[in-house]
Amino acid sequence: MNLFDLKGKVAVVTGGNGGIGLGMARGIASCGASIVIAGRDRDKAATALTALHEMGADAGFIAADITQKADCLALIAGAEALYGRVDILVNNAGTSVRKMPQDLSEDEWHHVLDTNLTSAFLCSQAAYPAMVRQGGGKMINVGSMMSLFGAPYATAYASSKGGIVQMSRAMATAWAKDNIQVNAVLPGWIDTDLTRRARQQVDGLQNSVEKRTPQGRWGTADDMAGVAAFLAGPASDFVTGAAIPVDGGFSVAM
Ligand code: NDP
Repeated sequence: MNLFDLKGKVAVVTGGNGGIGLGMARGIASCGASIVIAGRDRDKAATALTALHEMGADAGFIAADITQKADCLALIAGAEALYGRVDILVNNAGTSVRKMPQDLSEDEWHHVLDTNLTSAFLCSQAAYPAMVRQGGGKMINVGSMMSLFGAPYATAYASSKGGIVQMSRAMATAWAKDNIQVNAVLPGWIDTDLTRRARQQVDGLQNSVEKRTPQGRWGTADDMAGVAAFLAGPASDFVTGAAIPVDGGFSVAM
């Protein structure tokens, strides 16, 4: 029995055209699954597809704005049309607006919640019928250290990422009977476009993360590959509703 065998499986990864999403897509592809990456930026997607093809993966891109319900439905339908099935859904696409709560507009609040949380709900709902037809599936939702901690500038972001954990738990209980496992991963500080922006806005962030993280470094997108492979395949068949930190020890250190 190969606990990490994903041959014949199909994974949809939102925001798989870069950063953590591409790291997770690479992890799942390395176990043999076909990959559909989704996002808005076609240039980034072309680069990501090249990286996936270079490692021998069967991979395609579907353009989608996951804040739009129609795009979430079309994404899952498109993946089924391309590959005939959807076994794995990674709800990874996300954004952030860094502002104190008193300065955050209602539009900014909705933008962050729609991108980070509502999209995951809509894509999961869209993928559910396909997984039921196939006798099971795996959903992996990307949370954050802000699923656990608060920060002054992160009201909308932390609300969305706390919601990701609770949504995962609720869906895990709802869909256990369908043999669908729903889990969250909670990345620590990972070097991506998102955090490169944060480092430009926050003085000293580079060093403070290194000091605060027991492993003494930022994570890389490739650090997210292993947990994705684990949660996408048979190795995690009795794991559901969990929220797994991948953080170099950040969440267990004072
Ligand atoms: P990136 O900015 O590199 O990636 C975000 C991805 O989300 C992009 O590929 C982007 O694709 C996609 N995306 C954003 N909005 C939409 C949209 N409306 N429709 C479709 N796709 C969209 O950041 P990260 O890789 O760092 O972030 C990935 C996830 O990890 C996010 O959920 C983030 O909150 C989470 N995270 C990141 C951490 C970190 O330290 N980097 C820590 C904890 C959590 P496109 O540009 O094509 O739209």
